[in-house]
Amino acid sequence: MSALSEGEVGFLPMLEAANIQLLWHPSLSEESSTDVLVLLEAIGEGRQRLDALCIEGAALTGPAGTGRFQMLAGTQWPMMRWIEHLAPQARYLLAIGSCAAFGGIPAGGANPTDARGLHYDEDQKGGLLGEDYRSKAGMPVINIAGCAPHPGWILETLMALALGQFGAEDLDSFGRPRFFADSLAHHGCGRNEFYEYKASAEQLSDRGCLMENLGCMATQAPGDCGLRVWNGGSFCAQSGYPCIRCTTPRFGRTETAFFKTPKIAGIPVGLPSDMPKAWFVALAALSKSATPQRVRQAATQAGAHMPAKAKDPS
Ligand code: SF4
Repeated sequence: MSALSEGEVGFLPMLEAANIQLLWHPSLSEESSTDVLVLLEAIGEGRQRLDALCIEGAALTGPAGTGRFQMLAGTQWPMMRWIEHLAPQARYLLAIGSCAAFGGIPAGGANPTDARGLHYDEDQKGGLLGEDYRSKAGMPVINIAGCAPHPGWILETLMALALGQFGAEDLDSFGRPRFFADSLAHHGCGRNEFYEYKASAEQLSDRGCLMENLGCMATQAPGDCGLRVWNGGSFCAQSGYPCIRCTTPRFGRTETAFFKTPKIAGIPVGLPSDMPKAWFVALAALSKSATPQRVRQAATQAGAHMPAKAKDPS
């Protein structure tokens, strides 16, 4: 749903403009039943060229490795078997979303359906297809992580692949495209002035930084959400919802409540991944002692909307 409204013109016109032909999508395409089976069989037998296979959702391999928790309607096969059948034919294989990439929420807790990512079981290589899987172009699975992933991440990856301008060197250590995964979701947040002074919100409607008390994990979350923003205007933390680190492999297994920052001796357990922990602790103490009065006061005032870039909260 978020992808459909991507950009000025929307997802499908942008695919068309990039000369990418959508062979089939379960919600967007008119073909169903026999037409789809004919297409899938042609791909599986190598009669239909398949440049990019995009899979959404975790592969459910239960019960007992049969995959029968998740059948492809109208066929006798579970989804995992279809994926295993089609993946060797794909020039590129893309896992769309953190469930397909790492298992995501279905793989959390007791994982009753034996959910797996295509190429990872959470942060361990393997997944449904095994560590050694490579697509026809010699690439590992491209993990467009996120819950949901930004539609721009999907489209720009497809466009770069179509232009032949994307290779294994453009992926990070978890197979995520570096053009978005080399940033942190925290970069560009409108609450950054509060973050710098450690002027923290105490409840969700406050204007201050959500990291110290309300569980924001954007300083550890790969993604350019704060720079790219969603739907042209905002992103989670800016809109008042703490970042839940949805682009990371173990996000479905978050051990603490999403709206509470776990701490030891008053120091958040999850510290920013772009600076050494000792620096952060020292700088945080210094910043707090230098917080201007206007910033300290504004941090705990209600603020319904935060602009894309930091502005003077006074
Ligand atoms: S609310 Fe989250 S994303 Fe925004 S400045 Fe604080 S830590 Fe960064």
